[in-house]
Amino acid sequence: MASLPVDSRSFDHVVRPRNICLAGQRGSLCAVVLLLSAVAWAAEPPAAGLPRTWPQAYVVQRDEASGILSLRTAYYTVEQDLKRGGAVARITLTHGKAANLLVRPLETRVQDESGAVLTDLADPAPAVTHRREGLNEIVTVDCTLKDPAGRASGLRVKTTLEYRWGYVKIRKELLVPRGVRLREVCPLSTVLAPSLSRYGYREGITEEENDPPFSFGSNRWGMLRLDHSADRGLSTRYVPRSMIFADPGVEGLEWFVGSDLSQWELQLSGRRGGGQCSLDRHQNPPGLALSVSPLRSADKAVSPPGTCVFEFYLAFPILEGRARRPWLHTAFNRNRGDWVSTEEIRRWAEKGIQTVHCHNDGDCFNDGLFWRDGSYPPYPDMDRYDKVLMDCRRIGIRTATYFSNKELHPSTKEFQQHGQQWGRKNRKGELQHNFSSPNHEYGAQMCLHSGWLDFLKFSIDRVLKNHPLDGVYYDWNVALLCSNPLHEGNHDGAAPAKGHWDIDELLELMEWTRRRVGPSGLVIIHNTTTPMYATENFADYVVATEWGYQRWTDRAPDLQDLPLEWSLAGAVPRGVISYGLLDAGAPRRLHRLFAIEAFLGGVTPWPASEETFALLPLLKPLGEIGNYRFADWRNEAVTLSHARCAAAVYSRPQDAYLLLANLDPSPHEVTCVLHPEKLPYPLARPTSAARLTAGGASAVGRVPGDASRLDLRQMVGEGLKTVIPGDGAVVIQVR
Ligand SMILES: [Zn+2]
Repeated sequence: MASLPVDSRSFDHVVRPRNICLAGQRGSLCAVVLLLSAVAWAAEPPAAGLPRTWPQAYVVQRDEASGILSLRTAYYTVEQDLKRGGAVARITLTHGKAANLLVRPLETRVQDESGAVLTDLADPAPAVTHRREGLNEIVTVDCTLKDPAGRASGLRVKTTLEYRWGYVKIRKELLVPRGVRLREVCPLSTVLAPSLSRYGYREGITEEENDPPFSFGSNRWGMLRLDHSADRGLSTRYVPRSMIFADPGVEGLEWFVGSDLSQWELQLSGRRGGGQCSLDRHQNPPGLALSVSPLRSADKAVSPPGTCVFEFYLAFPILEGRARRPWLHTAFNRNRGDWVSTEEIRRWAEKGIQTVHCHNDGDCFNDGLFWRDGSYPPYPDMDRYDKVLMDCRRIGIRTATYFSNKELHPSTKEFQQHGQQWGRKNRKGELQHNFSSPNHEYGAQMCLHSGWLDFLKFSIDRVLKNHPLDGVYYDWNVALLCSNPLHEGNHDGAAPAKGHWDIDELLELMEWTRRRVGPSGLVIIHNTTTPMYATENFADYVVATEWGYQRWTDRAPDLQDLPLEWSLAGAVPRGVISYGLLDAGAPRRLHRLFAIEAFLGGVTPWPASEETFALLPLLKPLGEIGNYRFADWRNEAVTLSHARCAAAVYSRPQDAYLLLANLDPSPHEVTCVLHPEKLPYPLARPTSAARLTAGGASAVGRVPGDASRLDLRQMVGEGLKTVIPGDGAVVIQVR
């Protein structure tokens, strides 16, 4: 990373995280190295009332008899197997479904010149240490690679696992004796739970492989179900930068490589495309076999460097195990000086708007008065901006303001001084300027793996300090490939870049942001086509589906054809951008169906549409939604007999609410069967069922007093016939 230029130090002192004192947070860097025995380090339990976005301490336990080192939070448990190379052998989400997201441990293996496979799992007694740094746990493992018969080779692997909040940063050092030649180096091989069948990967290709310069590198999406022979896995010579897996709406797992891409692309053989990443079916035990090899050849061996370093991450969604109320959000801007009025803000509150943000990164009114990325102050009338924020605060609406994590406007002094140095560049050394139209520029793309990160923090801090905001809205919340050689410790830039992206720094920015806004602050991120558990874990809300997917024309797609990022793993309240999928002239019925499909997935149209507000009364009888668990349209508790009808479930110990919807324009009489034992909170002896509302989605839901009783015995038996209105939804309460 480029060193900070001298003239940037004016902002250096303010970019350090503020000290926010909270029960449960330790002072930083109390690095205590502990020799391990059968000991549990019971960190204090999570402080009550802290949100899932706020990092909390681990409880670490080492059991010599079973050989398990376990690292646990309220939301997830990771176990390392001390009798099998210290490998990560179990990942379980407290509010997830699978007992273990890994069917086989995360193995490190190599294949030598003769074809013999050497693995860390064959080492029964690795040296393992553990220490705590602040809230993070650092585990080191030193082990010998052995063949399956247990014979040692001269190769060793030293692994450092840094357990942070919702993710683990893993650094592997492969130590290879002089003269040893290898055909394969595989720092990551495992078998995933078969339920993680939806996946996406961001390719590891560059301009050299004809990827366009400044490619966004969106995920390529796939599905690999063991019992669907048409599903395809993945096989590529170029190690992807990331792979995300999901049991949609339920849970997930992802891995991604660190910022230094040369480790995965050039380190071993000096040429690109000599690796192998594959995802395929695994029969025994059943699962999804994943292996990531930066070097693999069927016949040719290479002499690798004596020490090969690989850095990568594992992350999982932090699931709370409770339903969320729909996220009702809107945005404002300067609007030619016609700022949002106090009355309008009162109307927002009356409709239920919870959050707003100022979004004004382009010159949409042709008056030159917009928020040029990185500039400050953006407007001559900042007092009016403050008034909007204060009006929102008074009435209970939380506020954020827009930042682009990647763009800096050329009009800023910082661009003029550092743009070339901080910029994301292509192989020719050019910058990329983003325009909304030929004369309207948003800014030039920057790379966080540079001094841009510190300036961006400074710029965000400057705004948060000076205005009554609850937090931030981050656009371009994505790591991207960059070929600026200055970002690789290559200070004169004489040699071409070896390749990096800025994922380490994106994660650092997310952690800094959460600390900066505090546990009750507001963090909204936008990551269309590149969702990530690791970053979303620090966000209150995620905005998705702005572009990159099939547009809706005359009908709403079947639910299984919606993008994976529609609800991803169901961990974070999401706003799905309707204008990204619906044309401006789309009929209103498609907007209604968009809202219905959003509700069936536990997400909300973004910004909140009139059709969203029309649907809300359906959920009103539920009361406090956080008291329920939600299961989306894929649940097995309710089955409907028509392919274009679907049901989502809100479940409490004493009752359940079933949201039944029809995606066709004409009414359908469906047979509805309830399996009460399959509800998130199973109902042992349900006694009654009632339909709470009838009519189309635009109808106002009726309160329970209007309920019409249904035959529960039929519903849990052969099925109850009921009519769902066209383009509509109804709610059934069961208790
Ligand atoms: Zn860069």
